[in-house]
Amino acid sequence: MTEPNQATRRERGHRRSVFSGIQPTGVVHIGNYVGAIRHWAGMLDDYDCTFCVVDLHAMTVPYEPQEMPQKVFETFIINIAAGLDPERCCLFVQSHVPQVTELCWMLMTCSSMGELSRMTQFKDKSEKLGGQVSAGLFTYPVLMAADILLYKAEVVPVGEDQTQHLEFAREAARAFNARFGETFPEPEALFSEVPRLMGLDNKQKMSKSLDNHISLLEDRDEIWAKLSTAATDPARVRRADPGTPEICNIFTMHKAFSPPEDIEWSAHGCRTASIGCLDCKRRVTDNMAAELEPVREKYRELAADPGRVREIMAEGAENARQRARTNLAEARRSAGLL
Ligand code: SF4
Repeated sequence: MTEPNQATRRERGHRRSVFSGIQPTGVVHIGNYVGAIRHWAGMLDDYDCTFCVVDLHAMTVPYEPQEMPQKVFETFIINIAAGLDPERCCLFVQSHVPQVTELCWMLMTCSSMGELSRMTQFKDKSEKLGGQVSAGLFTYPVLMAADILLYKAEVVPVGEDQTQHLEFAREAARAFNARFGETFPEPEALFSEVPRLMGLDNKQKMSKSLDNHISLLEDRDEIWAKLSTAATDPARVRRADPGTPEICNIFTMHKAFSPPEDIEWSAHGCRTASIGCLDCKRRVTDNMAAELEPVREKYRELAADPGRVREIMAEGAENARQRARTNLAEARRSAGLL
């Protein structure tokens, strides 16, 4: 990623602000962890970080209202357990900061229907939903833009599937500023070099709904039960067949969880057929389980103290609301609403 002003700003002691949202799925898998949470946790010292569990976004598709509180709660604590230390970032629940919906409305008045209708994710999701497409699903990118702009985020960590939405947020900032005067910074995308894990089938993205995932809360035996039957390089039909680690999801898992010597052992052993796939999987299972054990431990500790979790949630929401009030007041003034 190009960040032309970063060095200069850092010299002035400015920590750039980062925002990202987390879907309240209740189940966080190793793909989420490697692709997002662990990467975000590594940014806490260098950036002013804001993360939120996006329950309002989750309303854009059918869901069970009675399940939502538990899903939000679990997602919140898994993210803390996985590294989003609330002492070092602002972590909150989206709907606890109602200012976001007002800014969303203001941005909607600056957004183009044509641009929204070109969003790939909208097309994909609406095809899956058949006739149940809500206006909320259509305007989802506007709410996402409101999330980002409400906290004046300068940097947004994105995966490839979110670049279009981030570009929309940049356009929303430009459109608002052009119409009402300079108010919001245009957020920049931060692309990371983190390994991208596929599902256990090695065909589709890892996903809870596709049931091809490993949850962060699974122990070594559960991880082994899944990995021992997971897809590998299809060219390795017999143990004596050499393989190509670069096309194998298990090797990507080594890159995500194993020390350099084990990554090298796996790559060399695969190419020369000096190890079998089960040897390779056993080693990555051990490394993965070792890294995730403290996450599970922290999760258990938090889950056993829901009162403390509610306090952390309330503190995060109050911190976010303070900034939201200030920035929304500025937007209101710009738009002539005060
Ligand atoms: Fe994949 Fe490892 Fe088997 Fe190679 S040896 S195909 S990297 S599981």
